[in-house]
Amino acid sequence: MPVIRVALPIPLRQHFDYLLPDNIQVSQGCRVRVPFGKRELVGVVWQLAPDSPYELTQLKPVSAVLESSPVLSERLRQLLSFAAEYYHHPLGEVLTAALPALLREGRALTDYQLTGYRLTASGEACSAADFKRSTKQLALWQSLQQGVIAETVLLAEHPRSVLKQLLDKGLVASQVLARQPYQYQGLAQAALQLTVDQALAVTAVQQAQGSFRPFLLEGVTGSGKTEVYLQCIAPLLARGEQVLLLLPEIGLTPQTLQRFAERFKVPVLAWHSNLSDGERLNCWLNAASGSAAIIIGTRSALFLPFHKLSLIIIDEEHDLSLKQQDGFRYHARDLAIKRAALENCPILLGSATPSLESLYNAQQGRFGHLLLQNRASGQALPAFELIDLKQQQMHYGLADSSIQQIRQQLGRGKQVMLFLNRRGFAPALSCQECGWLTECKRCSAFTTYHKHSKQLLCHHCGASRPIPKQCGNCGSSRLAPVGQGTEQLEEHLQQLFPATPVTRLDRDSTRRKGALGALLDEINQAGPRLILGTQMLAKGHHFPFVTLVVIVDVDGALYSADFRAPEQLGQLLTQVAGRAGRGHDKGKVLLQTQHPEHALLQDIIHNGYASFARSALLERQQTALPPCQHLALFRAEALQSELCQQWLQHIADILRSNPALQLMGPLLSPLERKAGKYRWQLHLYSRQRPALHQALHQLLPELGRWPLSRKVKWQLDVDALDL
Ligand code: ADP
Ligand code: ZN
Ligand code: ZN
Repeated sequence: MPVIRVALPIPLRQHFDYLLPDNIQVSQGCRVRVPFGKRELVGVVWQLAPDSPYELTQLKPVSAVLESSPVLSERLRQLLSFAAEYYHHPLGEVLTAALPALLREGRALTDYQLTGYRLTASGEACSAADFKRSTKQLALWQSLQQGVIAETVLLAEHPRSVLKQLLDKGLVASQVLARQPYQYQGLAQAALQLTVDQALAVTAVQQAQGSFRPFLLEGVTGSGKTEVYLQCIAPLLARGEQVLLLLPEIGLTPQTLQRFAERFKVPVLAWHSNLSDGERLNCWLNAASGSAAIIIGTRSALFLPFHKLSLIIIDEEHDLSLKQQDGFRYHARDLAIKRAALENCPILLGSATPSLESLYNAQQGRFGHLLLQNRASGQALPAFELIDLKQQQMHYGLADSSIQQIRQQLGRGKQVMLFLNRRGFAPALSCQECGWLTECKRCSAFTTYHKHSKQLLCHHCGASRPIPKQCGNCGSSRLAPVGQGTEQLEEHLQQLFPATPVTRLDRDSTRRKGALGALLDEINQAGPRLILGTQMLAKGHHFPFVTLVVIVDVDGALYSADFRAPEQLGQLLTQVAGRAGRGHDKGKVLLQTQHPEHALLQDIIHNGYASFARSALLERQQTALPPCQHLALFRAEALQSELCQQWLQHIADILRSNPALQLMGPLLSPLERKAGKYRWQLHLYSRQRPALHQALHQLLPELGRWPLSRKVKWQLDVDALDL
């Protein structure tokens, strides 16, 4: 019997070989069901006739082969193998990220046929007069006059209950639809006349069609990057090809989806974590069959199968949420570049505030560099003004002159946006007698006071408890909030501007399904309004009536130990500022700070992000930090601090002799204790990526054998972003 090697969706760093019974055929990339301990698992055939280290008698036979043509193409298998190797992560977990749950469970693909609906003969014999009593039924009947409509399309416009009524009356019947490549029917909406910079960018991408080429599209906020994407896509659709658009967050998807669907008469599908398992598989199948033209998705969309993928676009490529922050810690941008290389197609990375990584790649000539230096509307970018808090009267965290300017804009019927990156009412409660502060019992952090939900909440471990009546130290009942969060600012704004509606946008106010959409609708109505929120506000939303942005507290980020803090602050300020002055008026941004002379603020406001980023990159070069050096980071956590330290020290002792590596640590993580566990890290830097990976490759199997490795919870983070 031949041997096959199977990738199983489990977190183990090893191969699993099985026997293939003689009468069964299978090809690579197909799913098989195999015995595993007492269970059965579904895996994917990774290799035929591998060089197995096991005796044939030690191997068990596969139980069943689930299909004859592969669910994972050779390219996708190459991508997953590359990812497992690059991130030094078990292939099984990489596979878990890439395969929809229903496929991992072993469901047959034929269970997921596409359903459509059509009028029956009696339905066709009806006339509009037959639906006098129900306008909803009439509307559905009228839609179906065009012919068969897929369930997903139909239910997007009509309630399921109405469909059921017509099914029950025998006027409508269901029908299985084949998934076929989509048909392009031309533009639904005319393209805009491109500016010269936009046209140059579109031409560059078009000329690269049919070959692998990464581009960085660096365009100031409002410069029309989306129009560039749209016009790069149009000719591909005319040829029946597919496009993948990756976005950092789901919050952005509805608006963007709409913009793409409005332009092209093709199926545009969304892929994100809020889809049900069935919806995910449906999207997966539509991508694979070519019946989806454009897929707009978050991170893991980069693992979708495509019939003919010919362009990948990543919008907001600098956004940290493109990197998975737990488990399989991949960076969607970097794996998407690998995907484009395997597909032999161009990839376009767009941002107003590119990551220093991409900027570095562009400077080194590895990426084409496309620039959009002006807003498409010809409008000026918003002006910054530093508000020196040392010289101002403060009211509720707002300086006199901020309040004055807010009042002025509201008086003109405009909207004002206030940015405060702390949700909740206050970062802690404090005792007025002895200064005691509410702390999380399990983390080295204060607990945030949430007034609406009446609780103290730890933003690190999620623990919540009721609000104490007394000080935990002296027993005094004089407890008061310290510092300000968005809930409190909302209350104060209502006091300062009682006649103006306030919309608050943060994780708490948008938790309910559909809440974000409703708040955005509120904001899109004209008329004076105060909009306040956390960094959610920075994320690409289009706020047409905002003319003034106030950044309530700039200083928190100015003196951080993280070498990436300046870059992130620069991005944040620029992105938040980009929300202002998108309508007819020029916008303005107020930065409230105790340190108006700070070099970073001066650079950003006088020279802009582009200039700031270039000097920040120079500094990274001089200080030998990423992206000019490669970083891999070991993290360890355990109930006992010493165990983490010892374990990391052990690694450091082994690697210290490697001349290609520089080590930093072991050191305590910035958040020293989380959910009861102490946390340590060890940084490995190297100028040579291969040397770093070689060292890790040798080390990891050895690590697995140390007894101490079972006492700490550890992880390796290649190209770590959060330190
Ligand atoms: P970005 O994504 O770069 O922030 P958008 O693509 O959202 O910018 O464009 C900002 C605004 O400019 C949009 O209202 C868009 O319709 C408009 N716009 C883009 N390109 C053009 C153009 N060539 N001519 C006129 N308006 C444009
Ligand atoms: Zn906690
Ligand atoms: Zn006290």
